Amino acid sequence: MARGKLIVVSAPSGCGKGTILGRVLADQERFYYSVSATTRNPREGEVNGTHYWFLTREDFEQKIAQGEFLEHAQFCDHYYGTPLGPIEEHLAKGQDVILEIEVQGAMQIRGKRPDANFIFIAPPSLETVRERLIGRGTETMDVIEKRVAQAEKELKLRDQYDYCVVNDDLDTAVADFLSVVRAIELRVGK
Ligand code: 5GP
Repeated sequence: MARGKLIVVSAPSGCGKGTILGRVLADQERFYYSVSATTRNPREGEVNGTHYWFLTREDFEQKIAQGEFLEHAQFCDHYYGTPLGPIEEHLAKGQDVILEIEVQGAMQIRGKRPDANFIFIAPPSLETVRERLIGRGTETMDVIEKRVAQAEKELKLRDQYDYCVVNDDLDTAVADFLSVVRAIELRVGK
């Protein structure tokens, strides 16, 4: 069986990335979503082991020391990291492994994994980011402004990625994302 593809996806907060990936990941045979670890608190409805592994700072730092992460980064005052173990297992099974991580972590992987493919999801504008975060209603205004400022910085890094999908219309963005994945699957060599 052909090995799966390692696919790194980054998007500033409020890009609708969760909605796009929710649709894409419905195909559970084809894709494996890498569950990250984080030290931030769970949001309403988030389940430990499904959305994230929610860890204390001490536990997280211990796992860094033990080399358990493929990459890790600090984002808005919290640690986030990708557990290494499950990735190889699922690639070997022929599944495409999707890592949904921010840009610092993605750039660490660029340096370490020549087999990785990089997709950026961009919002049509920063104003839509602010509106979506307000609409989601899970963050305070202070945190929202911090995330919008972070999104502005991250948008400048889209050139570091192999592909960029703009999420203006959801159906189009999902179709574009799947076209990119198909191209990655058919690519010779990587
Ligand atoms: P959120 O707190 O909104 O769930 O995630 C904040 C940011 O952290 C998002 O950009 C998300 O992609 C990123 N992130 C989630 N998991 C990881 C990870 O394992 N590593 C890194 N570097 N970033 C992550």
